[in-house]
Amino acid sequence: MPQRRESESRKLLGRLRDAMAEDGDGQQRLDKITGLIASSMQTEVCSIYLFRDAETLELCATEGLNPDSVHQTRLRLGEGHVGRVAKRSKTINTADAPSEKGFRYMPETGEEIFSSFLGVPIQRLGERLGVLVVQSKAARLFSADELYALEVVAMVLAEMTELGAFLGEGEALSARHQQPVLVRGTTGQEGAAIGHVWLHEPRVVVTNVIAEDPDTESNRLTEAVETLRVSVDKLLAGAAGGDGEQVQVLEAYRMFANSKGWMRRMEEDISNGLSAEAAVEKEQTQARTRLGQVSDSYLRERLQDLDDLSNRLLRILTGQGAITGAEMPADPVLIARNIGPGELLEYGRSLKAIVLEEGSVGSHAAIVARALAIPLVVHADAITREALNGDQIMVDGDQGIVHLRPDDTVNAAFQDKIAMQADAQERYSATRDLPATTVCGTTISLQMNAGLMADLPSLESSGAEGVGLFRTELQFLIRNQMPRRSELSALYKRVLDASGDKRVIFRTLDIGSDKVLTYMKPNDEPNPALGWRAIRVGLDKPGVMRMQLQALLRAAAGRNLSVMFPFVAQYSEYVAAKAEIAKAMDRERRLGHPLPEKLEVGAMLETPSLAFAPQAFFEDVGFLSIGGNDLKQLFFAADRENERVRRRYDTLSISFLSFLQGIVTRCEVAGTPLSFCGEDAGRPVEAACFAAIGLRSLSMRPASIGPVKHMLRNVDLNVLRGIIEKCHESGEQSVRAPVMDYLKSVAR
Ligand code: PEP
Ligand code: MG
Repeated sequence: MPQRRESESRKLLGRLRDAMAEDGDGQQRLDKITGLIASSMQTEVCSIYLFRDAETLELCATEGLNPDSVHQTRLRLGEGHVGRVAKRSKTINTADAPSEKGFRYMPETGEEIFSSFLGVPIQRLGERLGVLVVQSKAARLFSADELYALEVVAMVLAEMTELGAFLGEGEALSARHQQPVLVRGTTGQEGAAIGHVWLHEPRVVVTNVIAEDPDTESNRLTEAVETLRVSVDKLLAGAAGGDGEQVQVLEAYRMFANSKGWMRRMEEDISNGLSAEAAVEKEQTQARTRLGQVSDSYLRERLQDLDDLSNRLLRILTGQGAITGAEMPADPVLIARNIGPGELLEYGRSLKAIVLEEGSVGSHAAIVARALAIPLVVHADAITREALNGDQIMVDGDQGIVHLRPDDTVNAAFQDKIAMQADAQERYSATRDLPATTVCGTTISLQMNAGLMADLPSLESSGAEGVGLFRTELQFLIRNQMPRRSELSALYKRVLDASGDKRVIFRTLDIGSDKVLTYMKPNDEPNPALGWRAIRVGLDKPGVMRMQLQALLRAAAGRNLSVMFPFVAQYSEYVAAKAEIAKAMDRERRLGHPLPEKLEVGAMLETPSLAFAPQAFFEDVGFLSIGGNDLKQLFFAADRENERVRRRYDTLSISFLSFLQGIVTRCEVAGTPLSFCGEDAGRPVEAACFAAIGLRSLSMRPASIGPVKHMLRNVDLNVLRGIIEKCHESGEQSVRAPVMDYLKSVAR
């Protein structure tokens, strides 16, 4: 085994470890450490700045600056050289700090006499903790070796901070992961919930940062990387020929696992005194920092792969698996960076809420969360770093806000909100078996949207009259391969069995746009929402649609079957799709299979063009359901997935309501049954306005049926119509404000 030279850095780390092992509080340790670093690096100054809140750094210990400035000198993020190091997560190395741009003069520290400045961020896996600085009077640039040594020390300090080694008086030395944190994300699914954190993938805790024997560490690293390589190769062999994206990720894993640069850097970290796991984490931290700085999506994905791979390696080295033995709390709120729909379904309805660091409103996980009616917040920045298993957490899905470890005031306010919701739920359940009849005597049929077998119990509990939209794509989205006809048929049969006499409208496969099947060849389209999706795919590649239609016909043998086609943009598409059903019926007949007793075929009206289709279409189509989510995005040319614009235009604007009114009138003339099944149908104010313009059937999430029914039972549609007409005349853009005034006056 090659003999290693004991580097200065390793000697320093050895001294640091001894200092940490001594008795003393956090402040004493920090004081000792600054002294050790200054003497080891032969600089007059060494200072440690730590964050006292997200925006403010505080000088917590110094060797060489005025001791009275400790805990007095504070800098905002980005202020002065220290603030800039923290803000950009980048080292600053300068021979002439005072004349360098951004220098901030702090008279109380006496630092203006020090010319050279080397500041490195103290950070851990993308979390900023502080800044470590050395300064000297002589004007010189620090060497690459010195810089590297200071980075290694900063890494050790970061781990020590995380482990609570510097706890003491004041905000800057207070325990981490204990203060209340408010995280602003994006609404994925409305609703509010209180619970305790359950981390989908618990963090790996590195307790041995400094190692005595680099050879032992190097061997540990080599062995762990070998184990990792073998496991990646095995995964790759298993995935070969399968899901292209998965293979691509695994190939990236393999590339990193064999990367000489990655190994060399970790070996270097080890020779400088770090343990094998600390070396992995140091490189991971640097990759995360880069991740925060690059915008190129390919590069970001690869850095993400490296991050995942580092986690795997850390788990091998520390023996800490994803299963920690911790017990899931009774009221779990799932926290994850991202999660697949299958994994989410495994947790099922036991979850109180879900918070994802990444995710997106249209992700498969979000679709499942919506189907399970679990509040979901996505884009909750840094939540996986902040949250610890068992922390109390409050999720406000309506606002897209998460309160982690809330203080008493937030706690009380949130508990009130939940109590009010519970009261309302009780009120709603009292009207469960009553019709949604308005004060003026009009009855609106309230249906529910569904997509999973797990939704069916809500048919009973919500009081829905039927399933107005069964999104069949969920069964396709949650699998890793195309479901078989027999599987689908069995599922559809169970759905029909569970719904008894209540009608279920099955929507044929609606994929494309935001709903992508991982096992189908990806389509690189510039505008997926306007691209090859839904019925367009069904008609161009009819194999899957035919298989699905057959499954539906078989499931409904001897019973009623309602089928509708998504995203029909013109009459001919409906004609072609209907012809597929006729062909499927013929085939079933020829094979001697029993057919449904009655078959109704309809279409979703999701493109403005269909509203202007020939009269013959309206007469021909069995029924229509307005897919308001897509219709609205196309009407206003505002992407439903784009946070910047998705709430920009009001559903209750005169223009959209007039457009809907036109559809209602055309259906009335042709005698076509019409329903509305987009998200807006489940919003009480919108639902009341839809009823006022003539819609008589609304389909929504089961949880919305109570609130919508309650609203409808209190309104007079004649009054609402009057308000809407008045807005037409007065030139209002939206009817919302006057409608709200009226609804408040009748609220009970
Ligand atoms: C709609 O577009 O309104 C709709 C119900 O379909 P989806 O949300 O599934 O696209
Ligand atoms: Mg749609």
